[in-house]
Amino acid sequence: MNEQKNSIEFFIGDITQLPVEAIVNAANNSLLGGGGVDGAIHRAAGKELLEECRKFHGCETGKAVITKGYKLPAKHVIHTVGPIYSGTKEDVNHLFGCYYNSLELAARHHLHSVAFPGISTGVYGYPKKEAAEIAIAAIDDWFNQNKEYGMRVVIVNFCKEDWLVYQEVLENMKERM
Ligand code: ADP
Repeated sequence: MNEQKNSIEFFIGDITQLPVEAIVNAANNSLLGGGGVDGAIHRAAGKELLEECRKFHGCETGKAVITKGYKLPAKHVIHTVGPIYSGTKEDVNHLFGCYYNSLELAARHHLHSVAFPGISTGVYGYPKKEAAEIAIAAIDDWFNQNKEYGMRVVIVNFCKEDWLVYQEVLENMKERM
């Protein structure tokens, strides 16, 4: 049995620098790279990452695939495809799926530390507060389904403003409990 408890922590900065077992990439359906965090991860990992990504022939929105991390400090990259925000219930399900399915995949590979960026909150336009609420709900749900696993989740906020959004969401949740 794993001695460590499930835990969640925050980091403000660049996800490509994190020495965790897996970092999550906010990829697109092609998995062939893009801008934002996707571009930063591919640049830092080197071109072998793109070669491995080609083998999947894409990924559905809300689902996740795993590759090696190559030149990254992280051993693995979990590529998940967030929804392009349209304000529908389907967006919520897809974004929830990104976090939940990434953790499922990490556990299937016996990984115990995973860092997430704010999936869909850049070019894909998801409002940051709503996205943070969904991220926390999905991680919390996974923790409840896997109480003994010992997963360390790091939520990476690219800037302090994004971190403040999460703190506000957590405060509101505490008040409601
Ligand atoms: P999406 O297309 O899913 O919206 P983006 O890459 O445009 O993805 O943005 C997702 C989030 O990742 C944004 O909040 C953005 O500020 C953040 N981000 C961009 N680069 C990095 C990085 N190097 N490390 C951590 N977060 C990043």
